[in-house]
Amino acid sequence: MLKACYSSRYYAITHTNSMEKLTAVAEVLEQDQLADLVDPESIDPRILYSIHDPAYVRAFLTGKRPLATMQGFKNWSPQFREAILSIQAGQLLATSLALKNGISANIAQGFHHAVYAHGNAYCTFNGLALIAKQFPHKKIFILDCDQHGGNGTAEYSLTMKNLYNFSIYGLAFGCTTNERSTTRPIHNQKGNFDQYSEAIVEGFEHAIDWQADLIIYQAGMDCHQNDRCGSKWFTTEMLYERDLMVFKLAKKYNIPIMFVLAGGYQKLETLVPLHVNTFKAANEVYFNTLS
Ligand SMILES: [Zn+2]
Repeated sequence: MLKACYSSRYYAITHTNSMEKLTAVAEVLEQDQLADLVDPESIDPRILYSIHDPAYVRAFLTGKRPLATMQGFKNWSPQFREAILSIQAGQLLATSLALKNGISANIAQGFHHAVYAHGNAYCTFNGLALIAKQFPHKKIFILDCDQHGGNGTAEYSLTMKNLYNFSIYGLAFGCTTNERSTTRPIHNQKGNFDQYSEAIVEGFEHAIDWQADLIIYQAGMDCHQNDRCGSKWFTTEMLYERDLMVFKLAKKYNIPIMFVLAGGYQKLETLVPLHVNTFKAANEVYFNTLS
């Protein structure tokens, strides 16, 4: 069965539903037996000092404003801090599980906009750069299919030689290119799924050429046509096709893959099924269970 990292500590009340969403998704996965949930416990905060400015990490751990809330979650609380620490632990455990089993997930989001100096745009710590840091002998390829460009990951890829950022997006969000950062914008009004599919194939070509040991798939749902950030043409069925395509290619080329939820800003009742679909697609490809 598909293993997915999750802990009840992931839950936190914020002014958005983005942390409550994690619990809502986990509940459906458990009910529908779509994943075996594994508790990652909590990350040793000392590890975070190795990927972010120590002044920022210290401020976040103690709740000292303005740095602690620079990612946009204005109501810092001990509950929120514990959620973030547990989610980051999930990134590392899920990576180990993917390397062992070929596929895994962390029921998490909020990584790719965080830069070295501070959190940014609802991303507190860059849990993608964290993986590259903690698995220094593995080449970590980020296939970022969130609607927003992964500007924070792009920044880290400048200096981390085992980190590659491949971002397919409708909204650039300042995501830059470099030797290990490739961007594929797909227009949010005039784009189409053929262009998006081509970009995914191209992403895999880059991953293969670069000899990636692991793909981290940011399975963002904020591209959906009903999302306030979404692309007009991107339907629920296409998003499911996207997920199937990514998993089929990873399996075909025998590259372990770990996925996270990433963005999605609709009401929970419409958003949760979209994220659950990614788990259905993973089950369909890896465990031959049709949804
Ligand atoms: Zn996003």
